Amino acid sequence: MSELVCIVCPRGCTLQVEGKGGTLQVTGNGCKRGADFARSELTAPMRTLCTTVRTAFPDVPVLPVRLSAEIPKGQIFPVMEAINAVTVDQPVDIGGVILKNVLGLGVDLVAASGLLRPAGG
Ligand code: SF4
Repeated sequence: MSELVCIVCPRGCTLQVEGKGGTLQVTGNGCKRGADFARSELTAPMRTLCTTVRTAFPDVPVLPVRLSAEIPKGQIFPVMEAINAVTVDQPVDIGGVILKNVLGLGVDLVAASGLLRPAGG
């Protein structure tokens, strides 16, 4: 039996997971999303990523960014290295793509703020 805390919502249910007959039985979850989270966490854990990137604009030296979808948990550090190599040198609106298909994972790095919104945008 494994025990883990669901991080899908602030309620933070404590989940118990037990392998039975080739499937993972989940208890302690307050909703179905917790069962889905537990099975994913024990087979192929995924994470979203919100961080910042450097910019070339002295007024806005860093810009909040996020990935467009979850990535495998094991790819967080390589993706952070790729993000740390980026310097935004063009205006970009919120939701604008800064890095396409990061490390070939099929997700984009997008602006999470309008701090560098193009003039007139
Ligand atoms: S199991 Fe459902 S209610 Fe409980 S923390 Fe996860 S998402 Fe929230």
